[in-house]
Amino acid sequence: DSRHGPILYLEDVNVSFDGFKALNHLSLYIDSGELRCMIGPNGAGKTTLMDVITGKTKPDSGSVYFGQTINLLELDEPAIAATGICRKFQKPSVFDALTVFENLELAMHADKRTWPTLFYRRNAEQNERIHNVLDTIKLTSLSKHPAGILSHGQKQWLEIGMLLMQEPKVMLVDEPIAGMTHQEVERTAELLLSLQGKHSIIVVEHDMEFVRSIAQKVTVLHEGSVLTEGTMDEVQNDPRVIQVYLGE
Ligand code: ADP
Repeated sequence: DSRHGPILYLEDVNVSFDGFKALNHLSLYIDSGELRCMIGPNGAGKTTLMDVITGKTKPDSGSVYFGQTINLLELDEPAIAATGICRKFQKPSVFDALTVFENLELAMHADKRTWPTLFYRRNAEQNERIHNVLDTIKLTSLSKHPAGILSHGQKQWLEIGMLLMQEPKVMLVDEPIAGMTHQEVERTAELLLSLQGKHSIIVVEHDMEFVRSIAQKVTVLHEGSVLTEGTMDEVQNDPRVIQVYLGE
């Protein structure tokens, strides 16, 4: 019942480390424009799954497709990034000494070789792109300030903005609200919701209340496989899910 067709399609993926199955016959289908949350206890395989999608880890077997036709197992990490799959790690890594604006500008050139040239001038289209992202991440009023003065939450939004500058198709977001204040958590939910549809987003997150506030569909991982998928209500009332979390 897909609306737009798959953006990511994994089938029967297996990854083992020294005989330990980190991913065990894992299959996953992400619809284009979807905002999906991945939950599951520690060691369930969430990080390994992200590593497989970005090409950091190559599975022992299985298939991983981007869209209908691009076989990600044939591509290395930079080539996968170039298809428009990008990842945001838990800790924000912005350049404190550069302004918010300059951080976004730098990110726009991260995948190209145009940044360090002496004769570089921003054109109107690039300028507009930066301003659009500033508006999306709600940091317009701080654009001329060094990123070093931002709060933890603002740095996280700036880093999401830096990903947006690269016009990603798929965003993999690792624990976006760790360490945030309640108000920052709410704004992060608004930001992620505003991005769905334009981008396909997979969020790995432990905070169930936050997951409920953003996701229509939640995937529960357990022992390297998909235990179940559904709405937050469906998965939270699933006896197998309760069992897995009680047993943690
Ligand atoms: P999660 O992110 O859900 O906590 P992970 O994907 O990090 O789970 O880990 C799944 C399992 O695989 C864990 O038991 C972990 O110890 C193991 N694992 C992950 N990466 C490696 C690695 N590089 N070498 C050995 N074992 C690993």
